[in-house]
Amino acid sequence: MGVFDRLGAEYEQIVFGHDPDAGLRTIIAVYSTARGPALGGTRMWAYPNEDDALADALRLGKAMAYKAACADLPLGGGKAVIIGDARRDKTDALMRAYGRQVERLGGRYITTADVGTTVKDLDVIAETTRYVTGTSGGSGDPSPVTAHGVWHGLRAVAETAFGDAALTGRHVVIQGVGKVGSGVARMLKQEGARLTIADIDAEAARALADEIGADVVGAAEALEVPCDVLCPCALGPVVTDKTIGSFKCAAIAGAANNQLEQPALARGLAEDGILYAPDYVINAGGLINVADELHGYDAARARRKAESIADTLREIFRSAESEGITPSEAADRLAESRIAAAG
Ligand code: NAD
Repeated sequence: MGVFDRLGAEYEQIVFGHDPDAGLRTIIAVYSTARGPALGGTRMWAYPNEDDALADALRLGKAMAYKAACADLPLGGGKAVIIGDARRDKTDALMRAYGRQVERLGGRYITTADVGTTVKDLDVIAETTRYVTGTSGGSGDPSPVTAHGVWHGLRAVAETAFGDAALTGRHVVIQGVGKVGSGVARMLKQEGARLTIADIDAEAARALADEIGADVVGAAEALEVPCDVLCPCALGPVVTDKTIGSFKCAAIAGAANNQLEQPALARGLAEDGILYAPDYVINAGGLINVADELHGYDAARARRKAESIADTLREIFRSAESEGITPSEAADRLAESRIAAAG
């Protein structure tokens, strides 16, 4: 197999950037610019080897293209990784060297923060490239807009699963009450939902429960609590070979990335009668927020756009139903058709 096939022939451009003086080794994977510049974060991670770093950049870059297309943003998709330990290896010189690599792509790739990079890093990156969003002078923390989009998405989920978009009186279990999960919890509580929350940070869960009124369960139990909607807002996969079959909810819909350990598990959820909101569709509020910065940031406009996540989910659930496919497959098809139409 040739190197192009091995890397994934569907990618437009894969850049290996190197700056020995700054200790930079970066891979920028541009999946597509058919719909616009490829916007995606920079992940800094101590990958055990370069193959793992490349695989992560490719996987994440493609996911960004699908997320942007489903959110109907004028963006392609891409992602970058910097090989290194963010706590040990990060220096301003490295960030500037990385910014120069981004600048050389001439705007085909626009970066923002991801695991291992912060707003402060983006400010340093901005010294050497124009193609960066989410700096301290920009759109700021995307979590409130992500939470706003998830809450609207949950209304589309409730409408499809229960025939009524209102979440009043519905029992929602939120796994992970960090920046996004706590925001979703407050909105749901205001609407009159019954909440059960869980976090590996037991103190954070208890403090939020005391503030808004919610039951607390241990992190390990959260996935098996009988409820109307399970709302994953933590980290890591929720639906795995081990957990499938043990959910006692009518729907799974939340902010967490990569909720399915493998795509095929979506079929198992459908067979168990559980409505699954594809994670990259319902959690697109963060991307919508940084994308808005490209036109001069307007917080109200970003929030309004995040509300359209509900319409997208309705469309996805409808086509899944009519075509006899899972919502995940319907979301992938929607993204692929939009990318193909543009390209
Ligand atoms: P965060 O770090 O603020 O919150 C995550 C919370 O989950 C923390 O409180 C953590 O203690 C808890 N947690 C981790 N593992 C857990 C487990 N096994 N059980 C219970 N709790 C657990 O992160 P965040 O910004 O709120 O993001 C939450 C999720 O949403 C992540 O998967 C993230 O990738 C995704 N997401 C976030 C945004 C955003 O705008 N912040 C946008 C899109 C997607």
